[in-house]
Amino acid sequence: MSAARLSPGGGGSVLESASMVHVAERGVLDATHRVILYLEGITVSFDGFRALNQLTLYVEKGELRCVIGPNGAGKTTMMDVITGKTRPESGTAFFGQTMDLTRMSEAEIAHAGIGRKFQKPTVFERHTVFENLELALKADRRVRASLFARLRDDARDRIAEMLRFIRLAEEADRPAGLLSHGQKQWLEIGMLLVQEPQLLLLDEPVAGMSDDETERTAELIASLAGKHSVVVVEHDMEFIARLGGKVTVLDEGAVLAEGTLQAVQDDPRVVEVYLGR
Ligand code: ADP
Ligand code: MG
Repeated sequence: MSAARLSPGGGGSVLESASMVHVAERGVLDATHRVILYLEGITVSFDGFRALNQLTLYVEKGELRCVIGPNGAGKTTMMDVITGKTRPESGTAFFGQTMDLTRMSEAEIAHAGIGRKFQKPTVFERHTVFENLELALKADRRVRASLFARLRDDARDRIAEMLRFIRLAEEADRPAGLLSHGQKQWLEIGMLLVQEPQLLLLDEPVAGMSDDETERTAELIASLAGKHSVVVVEHDMEFIARLGGKVTVLDEGAVLAEGTLQAVQDDPRVVEVYLGR
């Protein structure tokens, strides 16, 4: 059942009483047991077809996890479950020890600290790069009251720092619509990061990028390890190798293999369903 929600070394209690719902609503993340995301036995069906079939997956705090697998394996559906867009018909999904994702709205989940980037960039094209980051910061409910009312300079500093981090300092005053595809992706990642998510979900972030942009994106995401927990879905093996995290292979809605990139690449079952194609 929920035994896995205990720390690997044992101890601690699994908190499932009704009172914990209040903790979830306040968005206080308890990752004291090292694991930040628990998906256990998740099943999602569409007209009888199982997009996810008893999927079980754990992500540790500060971990950079790559998820690969053939088209239709259920990778995007997994992200839909984590963000509350799709409700599983069975299984449990917890953010830290206390937040039951299957009982939270999409807005509550975002507010609790799970940021998601879809495949297509969604920036405000008519606004400048700076304004895009400012809007993202203002959209963060935790920030709006304090930072914007009292600490305008701090907000500016934070945006300036993010501009440097996503390598768009030179583009700060340009409309986002004029950026390259890769730059728009970075801007969107920056818009998520200014909200300081605990867990960041990235669905195929380098699709359509040039080799140079892909390399820069790998550097950017790799530098988040330790500070943020990140789950990245990608097909680009070179990119995944650069990230250097643990790799989970999904197939037919369940985990087929998990380990280092080398280990999963050497797994004959992975070669058969995915890499050999
Ligand atoms: P991946 O991201 O790994 O390519 P998806 O999670 O998008 O896979 O899809 C998994 C399976 O579920 C696919 O067969 C897809 O067609 C199906 N699917 C996903 N979303 C829906 C939906 N809203 N309605 C019906 N089928 C869906
Ligand atoms: Mg997908």
